[in-house]
Amino acid sequence: MLIIKKEHLDQIKKQGEEGYPYEICGFLLGKQDYKNETRTVYEVFQVENQNKERANDRFEISPKDYMKVEDYAFEKGLEIVGIYHTHPDHPDRPSQTDLMFAQPDMSYIIMSVKDGKGENWRSWVLDVDKNEFYEEDVKVDY
Ligand SMILES: [Zn+2]
Repeated sequence: MLIIKKEHLDQIKKQGEEGYPYEICGFLLGKQDYKNETRTVYEVFQVENQNKERANDRFEISPKDYMKVEDYAFEKGLEIVGIYHTHPDHPDRPSQTDLMFAQPDMSYIIMSVKDGKGENWRSWVLDVDKNEFYEEDVKVDY
């Protein structure tokens, strides 16, 4: 389960609408309870989408940004618990490419941005054995 605050979702929505028609992406930083498979988001951290050629339907995070965020999280006593990105004019379902780059024990929030408006979103987790995503429960904290 993912626990996230309304304000974080609002931030992702805002970033997604500002970045439209391109995909935006970033990290979910927080704490992970492995035993109960619960991730709690404390902060969202946007990074640049490095894929310039197909930014409308692909996103890519540079190793440098990855390290930068890892350092930042570590300093704050947090860890990377997930990655969020948008799907401009596409549903909030993971693509084949998303599956290719997915890692276990992470929440993948995908927000659909239709005609420049952040619409539906869902959070996905990789099922390592089946090599497919399943939708996870989300609790929105206000
Ligand atoms: Zn995607």
